[in-house]
Amino acid sequence: MQSYNFSAGPAVMPSEVLAQIQADLAQSQKGHMSILEISHRSLTFDKIVDQAKDRLRELMDLPQDYEVLFVQGGGSLQFEMVPLNFANQKHQIAVLDSGNFAHKAAQAAQAEGVSAKIVASSRDEKYRYLPQLPADFSAPAYDYLHITTNNTIEGTCYHQSNLPQTNGPLVADMSSNILAEPYDVRNFDLIFAGAQKNLGPAGVTVVIVKKSWLAQQNVTKVGPMMRYQSYLDKNSMYNTPPVFNIYALNLVLGWVQDQGGVPAMYAANQKKAQLLYDYLDQSDFYHPLVTGADRSLTNVVFSTGNDQLDQTIAQQAQEYGLYNLAGHRSVGGFRASLYNAQPLSAVTALIDYLDKAQKEHQNER
Ligand code: PLP
Repeated sequence: MQSYNFSAGPAVMPSEVLAQIQADLAQSQKGHMSILEISHRSLTFDKIVDQAKDRLRELMDLPQDYEVLFVQGGGSLQFEMVPLNFANQKHQIAVLDSGNFAHKAAQAAQAEGVSAKIVASSRDEKYRYLPQLPADFSAPAYDYLHITTNNTIEGTCYHQSNLPQTNGPLVADMSSNILAEPYDVRNFDLIFAGAQKNLGPAGVTVVIVKKSWLAQQNVTKVGPMMRYQSYLDKNSMYNTPPVFNIYALNLVLGWVQDQGGVPAMYAANQKKAQLLYDYLDQSDFYHPLVTGADRSLTNVVFSTGNDQLDQTIAQQAQEYGLYNLAGHRSVGGFRASLYNAQPLSAVTALIDYLDKAQKEHQNER
């Protein structure tokens, strides 16, 4: 039986990439050093880092003034690193509180001694819609505005067409939709994304920073590991980087290029999400938790309206090879993550199963 993994992250990886990793590791048994054993100071690894940067540059159409850095510590470390490096003039940042991770970013900034002002929030409505910048938002009062482009838990998304408009610096947490849909990087001053959804295994975080913005900063009392400048100066090798993770990320980026880049990923993601949303919209048993233009392409959240039943159906799905469909504990219901590596056949299998489950549980709601 074909099985599908709907996990929100770490998430499904392209099967071609997994096969390549296996082949590369098998090769090491014939006397070559494997990727798990090579020095980060080797020419082999230098080439991998440079190729990964070049591929991301090409895929996201990065202007010359932007640099790619590889950092550890996940998106959560970025919640602290960004304010430490960029909140040093006003000592105040603005946050659009669109979900659990935006909220955590605000709390982390506060913990670093930076004032994080929530300028709009949908927390009271369980983050079911996207908060918008208030008309009187004044960018000069803040060092930057922090947004989460895609809210992994709640299934909402600021697409390029509905990005908040600010005339000050914009920082985006793109952890769950980088390379899944197009964004104009020129709209942002810093983008970060943990790898474990669209880019590869957990353990490396991509940071894309506008160098001229970084150059304006006077960062004091911040140690070298928490400074972007250290990563910039040393080609992301100030200390030992996560060698295997960058190697795997590079393979995923090559796979995205082979598929036709972001436009091809976007078209496939639209098709997958549309199929599932259409099914949910016409259903009188399941209902999607997000409506309209705010909907995420990569995380689709829905429910029958009965928590216990949702859990049973998500659990029974495993018998059909459909894994990790339970929603995040803060939202409940179901969450189907449809990242780049998720094939269309996963969505058709899911819809078939949801139909079966409806018939079986019709009267239990
Ligand atoms: N930001 C978003 C949008 C996420 O989805 C996640 C994790 O799922 C994080 C940040 C936190 O990432 P990490 O667990 O890598 O620190």
